[in-house]
Amino acid sequence: MRKRPGAVVDVSNVCWSKGLPPVGRKFPLLDRLFLVRDAWREQYGAGAPVGLVGDNSLLRSLLPEDRARLQRLRQDPGAEGFDEVRFVPYADPVFLRLARERGRHVISSDLFTDLRRAEPWIEEQPQRVLAWSTDADDRVRLRPSAIVPLPAHRVSKAIQVKDLKYLRLLDPDHRDQQQILRSHWRCTAIGCDTALHWPDGLLGWPTVSSGGRAVCDCGSLLERLGPRGVTRSFVVSDATAPDLPGGLSAGEFLRFPVSVGDAVQLGRGALRHGLNLAAKELPSPPGVKRVSRAHLVVSLERAGDTPQAYAVDLGSGNGTVVVRESGATRRVEPGERVAFGVDDRLVLGDAVAVRMSGQLHFTAEQTLPPDLGAGGEGTTLLGWDGA
Ligand SMILES: [Zn+2]
Repeated sequence: MRKRPGAVVDVSNVCWSKGLPPVGRKFPLLDRLFLVRDAWREQYGAGAPVGLVGDNSLLRSLLPEDRARLQRLRQDPGAEGFDEVRFVPYADPVFLRLARERGRHVISSDLFTDLRRAEPWIEEQPQRVLAWSTDADDRVRLRPSAIVPLPAHRVSKAIQVKDLKYLRLLDPDHRDQQQILRSHWRCTAIGCDTALHWPDGLLGWPTVSSGGRAVCDCGSLLERLGPRGVTRSFVVSDATAPDLPGGLSAGEFLRFPVSVGDAVQLGRGALRHGLNLAAKELPSPPGVKRVSRAHLVVSLERAGDTPQAYAVDLGSGNGTVVVRESGATRRVEPGERVAFGVDDRLVLGDAVAVRMSGQLHFTAEQTLPPDLGAGGEGTTLLGWDGA
């Protein structure tokens, strides 16, 4: 007999869902867990195991009677037909890993944008994530969630937002906190290690106090030094590698920052004003030999609120092609300046792809260009052997 596939429930997501009865009520209710459990049994079979994983923060949000009921559930999950109950500080990565390791479905209405890279199966097998609908008679049905593959820049942005929110309590969507992200900060507290080592300003992000102010890890209020420049990051990958789930470019081998007003040359061999894509410390693809010594220059310029990226082909031997979001491709004329956005790609010599990342906020450390050495000198491999 074939073993029944199980499920693991995103407890906080289900309990808070106003799409489950009582529909429209925005309050965490334990009953909703039993509704999805029953729907699961009806649709996938009574014997299929169901596990529960929740965020610790949910425990404090429940009504006292639900809290007591959950306590009993944790002591004896089998009595209610669950095979496991776990509460952790941050549940998403825990139940996604569990689902991967045990081949289970996930019951959640979350789209897990920020976890697509860590758990590529989400995009490979989206039918394993189940959301729900409730009909007019309060009948709950599970159905495949609306997960579709996302472009890399959307995933990068989601990962960064999550990192800032959870690690630094900074919310990039919050207007006052954007001011914190857009400034340089310095700690002047006596005896603080950060103040001692970085008198010219923090390399990383400040933390936000409960009052919404920028504070150092030592607890002192930080001094605002001035505005932070606008930076974007660019991703270099093997153009012949297929796209992976999670918006990852397969064969990605370098990321580099460019700030507004700056330009960076891309090429091969030791470059005075540029990045050596064939440097020994990079896992460059063999096709990098088709990149010219000075192939392309990428710049970032101020254009209203959002900066605009431009590229110029420096008369390279194998040329540069711009691939637009629509799939339209066009060869860039030597010396021609082309504007490109997060949905476009530049392909150098049919071999190496460059795109802009979705990351919007950069620490001082992240605005430093990578330190690349020699390697990759020698003549450019011209033409295309069709291999
Ligand atoms: Zn400090």
